[in-house]
Amino acid sequence: YDLRDEDLKDLHELGQGNGGSVKKVEHVPSRTIMAKKIVLIDAKPSVRKQILRELQIMHDCHSEYIISFYGAFLSDPNICICMEFMDKGSLDGIYKQIGPIDIEVVAKVAHHVLEGLTYLYDVHRIIHRDIKPSNILCNSKGQIKICDFGVSGELINSIADTFVGTSTYMSPERIQGAQYTVKSDVWSLGISLIELALGRFPFSESASDDDSDLSEFEGTLSPARPVPLEKKKKGDSKDRKRDRRKSRGVSLQGGGMTMSILELLQHIVNEPAPKLTPEGRFPKEAEDFVNSCLLKEPDHRRTPKDLLNHEWIKHARSARFDLEAWASTF
Ligand code: ADP
Ligand code: MG
Repeated sequence: YDLRDEDLKDLHELGQGNGGSVKKVEHVPSRTIMAKKIVLIDAKPSVRKQILRELQIMHDCHSEYIISFYGAFLSDPNICICMEFMDKGSLDGIYKQIGPIDIEVVAKVAHHVLEGLTYLYDVHRIIHRDIKPSNILCNSKGQIKICDFGVSGELINSIADTFVGTSTYMSPERIQGAQYTVKSDVWSLGISLIELALGRFPFSESASDDDSDLSEFEGTLSPARPVPLEKKKKGDSKDRKRDRRKSRGVSLQGGGMTMSILELLQHIVNEPAPKLTPEGRFPKEAEDFVNSCLLKEPDHRRTPKDLLNHEWIKHARSARFDLEAWASTF
């Protein structure tokens, strides 16, 4: 495709992220439906051109577990990235619509994400850096694919500063400023899988509860986008929450508690990792898989490739669960 903005007809908006928005569009000359991501880049023309060059690597990414790339172009202050349109949207939207995702489906998600991560790293030496349910997409053929991986170092840099978020999939070592590795993606996968299986972000309270404290922050804090610490929460909320915690005498996890972003980051670093709870509700192998993703010490955590040999994933691989039938239920 030789993509030009004037050939793309807007159909409707698919969602808003931190960097910009995603629209469903039709490439009129070829009658191809695409998802167009519009990222506002406040950078010099030379940097924008560099980003565009770096994005071209996506032309070489071919895997059934990775969203296909149609092309990218500059459009005044924006960079537009055109990719495969996934008609069932992202897994966060899906669980918010249908509730907690069946563990058999979660196992398939784990398998497909690991395959995608292994492909990206083994073939292209790309680390994803932004694994979370909104970057795992599904279509009515029952395919599950990952998108928004960190191909462009310049793009990561350009978005990083403008960022504040609500939920975080960042690993403890990443929060502490350590080098990013494929194992940080594994942590993010573990958090994402718990979120899908429970139907809520594992560090937050039950899905129905309010998250007013967190809603002070726009967007989602994700591994590629560390929080700018100076933009922290309003002054009084910490005391209020500390009081609530004391008075209710409950733990943060599953205890009906919201956290400010800084409390959340401290919690991830200092407290035990979340688990698939309650114990016994999910298969032992699923619990074990999630626990091994969420080992806090990155040296102990396994790589995506290694985790493809985990028992839970081996079963998921051979399971005859029909994802296409599942996707037709919503
Ligand atoms: P985020 O991933 O942080 O939610 P994005 O800007 O990357 O922000 O995406 C916004 C939303 O657009 C996503 O949550 C997802 O539901 C939707 N989306 C993104 N890419 C696609 C795609 N290729 N096909 C369908 N929906 C998409
Ligand atoms: Mg995204």
